[in-house]
Amino acid sequence: MNTRQKYRTSTYVLCLVIIICTALLWIEIWNAWQARKTQLKETYAAVNNVSYALAQHANQTFKEADIVLAGVSERIRYDGLGPAALDRLHLMFASAVQNLPALDGIFVYNETGEQLVTSRQALQAQFNNADREYFQYHRDHPDFMPHIGPPVFSRGTKKWIFTISRRIDKADGSFGGVVLATLDVASFQKFYDQFEIGSEGAILLGLMNGTALYRRPFTEDAIGRDLSNTQIYRTLISQKNASIVTIKSSVDGVVRFNSFRRVDDYPLFVVAAMSKDEALAEWVGDTLMRGIFIFTGIILVLLFGNRLIFNINRRELAEQKVLDAKKKQEELNRILSQLAMQDGLTGLANRRHFDQSLATEMNRARREDTCMSLLMIDVDFFKRYNDRYGHQCGDDCLKKVAGTLQACLQRPGDIAARYGGEEFAVILPECDTEGAKNLAARICQSVRDLHLEHEDSPGKVVTVSIGVATVCSPLPTADANELLRAADAALYESKTGGRDRFTVFATSPGQHLGGQQEVENFVR
Ligand code: GH3
Ligand code: MG
Ligand code: MG
Repeated sequence: MNTRQKYRTSTYVLCLVIIICTALLWIEIWNAWQARKTQLKETYAAVNNVSYALAQHANQTFKEADIVLAGVSERIRYDGLGPAALDRLHLMFASAVQNLPALDGIFVYNETGEQLVTSRQALQAQFNNADREYFQYHRDHPDFMPHIGPPVFSRGTKKWIFTISRRIDKADGSFGGVVLATLDVASFQKFYDQFEIGSEGAILLGLMNGTALYRRPFTEDAIGRDLSNTQIYRTLISQKNASIVTIKSSVDGVVRFNSFRRVDDYPLFVVAAMSKDEALAEWVGDTLMRGIFIFTGIILVLLFGNRLIFNINRRELAEQKVLDAKKKQEELNRILSQLAMQDGLTGLANRRHFDQSLATEMNRARREDTCMSLLMIDVDFFKRYNDRYGHQCGDDCLKKVAGTLQACLQRPGDIAARYGGEEFAVILPECDTEGAKNLAARICQSVRDLHLEHEDSPGKVVTVSIGVATVCSPLPTADANELLRAADAALYESKTGGRDRFTVFATSPGQHLGGQQEVENFVR
């Protein structure tokens, strides 16, 4: 595997790991986002349900009291406020308060604020209520509509009450007093406390003019507070029924989902609110848990991916090393086999190589019906050369002769070899006698032309004698040894003929080499 492929595999794995991690992350983010939306939807629905229940309750409670008041006003108009009528009213009030649990009391005041009749056992004549808001309202407003005033701290019962009242007119149409029903704040508190809106949840009951009637969590100073100038009131009052508004409280800094509703028949509104943090607490917990889980998963995938890439790289590195080693081995083998086939001194093919090549070329010549030639070359008087110039110079001489021999070859298929000692051989595939003769002549000449001094040789230079043998197709019986013997015989002829020459062992095509010896001798 090459480096490019290696990097490609690692890159694929890395991309895969990144894709898996990103996908896990996105799936988790998507899930968390969806879960948050669902949680918010449920919270909005819950808070809207609470505000609906609150609005219904407020409408119902004030209506019950108002119906009683409407009946009382009617009766006073017909029966007047004489002693007998007041007695009957007292009985009627007592019965109504008993039947309507939220109703705290019913009272009738004359035009100066004195109590005329009450649902209680005894009149509280010591308290004059002309200073109360509802009294002054009716005195100043001639209509007979019910009026809900700000919460009042009762002088008689010492507790907070809501009031709903109607005006009474005298026969001449002038202000004749007020008929009042009071509602116990505690009964509202009891009702409001039933709702599961969390520890930071809030409930508000208020008048449309911005006066707070009740707030959960309950605090004394919240009752009757004027909210008309507050941001929260202005924001809420502009909303449609059941709309959810997220507001950060200026009182406690808690962000809440507020559901605002107007009460149907009275100038009242209710707000139910749940803390955003509390509403999303479960979701945050779940998301955190799942986040830890996913984070762990991503870390594991990254570790696994890292390990995988590490292993791939290690394996590929090992493979690369094996390949490199194999290449080196092959190169080494090639060099070794080359060395095994090469003569150490001259660099020509060695004897082993020569033997193999000769057999191969003989077979080829037989197969392809062609001629082939062999030259046996021997340096003349080489013993003398060694004796005179030394063995080292003899080696140098052999190298030079070998180089010349190699240089004389013209075809790539020709093989020059060191046959042994100062003897060389040349295999000439697809070469007939003529070609072999030419080459032998060229070799003799080239060696002469080296002008290697040889004082003990007749020509005073190093020369070679050559034996040439050629076999031509068909070659029914001829083998390598016969060709060798023939070339050797020709070489012997060259030696005995006077050296520095070549002799051709001539044969006809298909002729047995051992059969006939026709020797041609060529001297320069
Ligand atoms: P001829 O002309 O008849 O061939 O005579 P010659 O002296 O060449 O033949 P001979 O066979 O008598 O001697 C061959 C000599 O070649 C003997 C040996 O010392 C020398 N010789 C053989 N191999 C090597 C070699 O590798 N290096 C050197 N320097 N001399 C060698
Ligand atoms: Mg020899
Ligand atoms: Mg010799």
